[in-house]
Amino acid sequence: MSVVRNKCKERGLWKFPSTIEHQPSNSHKQYLCTMQFSSSLLENAVNEFAKLPGIGKKTALRLVLHLLKQDPGDVHHFSEVMSRMRSEIKFCQRCFNVADGDICSICANSMRKSEMICIVENIRDVIAIESTQQFNGVYHVLGGVISPLDGIGPDQLTIEALIHRIEKEQTAELIFALNPTIQGDTTIYYIQKKLGTAPSANATPLRITTIARGIAFGGELEYADEMTLARSLQNRLPVDKYVSR
Ligand SMILES: [Zn+2]
Repeated sequence: MSVVRNKCKERGLWKFPSTIEHQPSNSHKQYLCTMQFSSSLLENAVNEFAKLPGIGKKTALRLVLHLLKQDPGDVHHFSEVMSRMRSEIKFCQRCFNVADGDICSICANSMRKSEMICIVENIRDVIAIESTQQFNGVYHVLGGVISPLDGIGPDQLTIEALIHRIEKEQTAELIFALNPTIQGDTTIYYIQKKLGTAPSANATPLRITTIARGIAFGGELEYADEMTLARSLQNRLPVDKYVSR
């Protein structure tokens, strides 16, 4: 123990250097946990932004302060666009993609090959594949993949609607563009089995493929670069040989 500390102890000041030692970490912690606002309106706005995924309090504050600098009319337009998006957006009755009406713009486009259906997990995957500009068919959005551990079974997905759709339409090919995970493969296997037992109105046998496994196993489709995703679609493979059971 140093001479200074001993002297402090003798004079009853022992707590003083000890407090100094702990002060930086405590105050740092406090700084991170609580943000002091002089306006509850500002605080409420920051708290709402901080609820968004991937947005921390500091980023939320930066976004709110940016809005504060904008013209009030622009901020009103911003909030109106968000509000209308939430209340008026619909899901396509055919493929479950987002739409402005009952049918999405992809299903309504007569230039697209409606006999070729690309099955995806969610809307983000539709956007990712559309960005490659390499696919001219239509989609079917499952709304997730079978994952018993997360409590997601086939009934919570749009699998039944897909089976009915294939029975009704002259579908020639199904392309599975699911994330290459155990859950993705389980979903492919389940749908394939379902199709095997379902009556088909198709005169020609249904071709079932999956996108090439250029993406790492366990990876996320939406984070793949466009080149990898485009190549995966071009080099798609038969499900029988490449999907693990
Ligand atoms: Zn659609």
